[in-house]
Amino acid sequence: EIYVLRLGHRPQRDKRVTTHVALVARAFGAKGIYIHGNDQKLAKKIEDVINVWGGKYFRIEMISNPKKLVNDWKATGGKVVHLTMYGINLPHVQEKLKELDKILVIVGAEKVEGWYYHMADFNVAISNQPHSEVASLALFLDRVYKGEELNIMFGDSKISVIPMERGKKVVRNDGQH
Ligand code: SAM
Repeated sequence: EIYVLRLGHRPQRDKRVTTHVALVARAFGAKGIYIHGNDQKLAKKIEDVINVWGGKYFRIEMISNPKKLVNDWKATGGKVVHLTMYGINLPHVQEKLKELDKILVIVGAEKVEGWYYHMADFNVAISNQPHSEVASLALFLDRVYKGEELNIMFGDSKISVIPMERGKKVVRNDGQH
């Protein structure tokens, strides 16, 4: 199972990007997200999505001490993957990553402290070019889950999309209209 740690969330500057990190985490199969910061409005927003689209198991937690989380994670046998453009490019490590059963995947906002590079079991680059935490997390989950996350279904959703070539169709799962 995979959990995400979002470092250095600043409520004003990062609200959209952190929201997208959390939505990608849920949609593509992570079990939860820890957000370093305090932004109850953001947590509420994700919970609202979960209420409608499902995934009540998905954990969203604001934390103030991310180093403790990393230490505790490692102490219980979990592996830590830090996504950084300076790391080893994903194609060279993805086979090893697929074998891990408990991963904390870290993405940053601004500069990430050296401590995390040191503590990570893997510093992984999603290409060695600068881009985005949203894109990095999406590609990482896609490779580790071998594309299977695209078929994700949430059994507890209130509504579902009926896929179609044109137009939009959504049905309520309780049979009402
Ligand atoms: N300049 C910052 C630094 O040196 O740490 C990075 C800022 S970047 C906008 C925010 C986050 O996106 C990074 O902490 C990293 O997790 C992720 N990221 C950006 N490009 C990446 C890449 N090529 N590979 C992996 N992660 C990347």
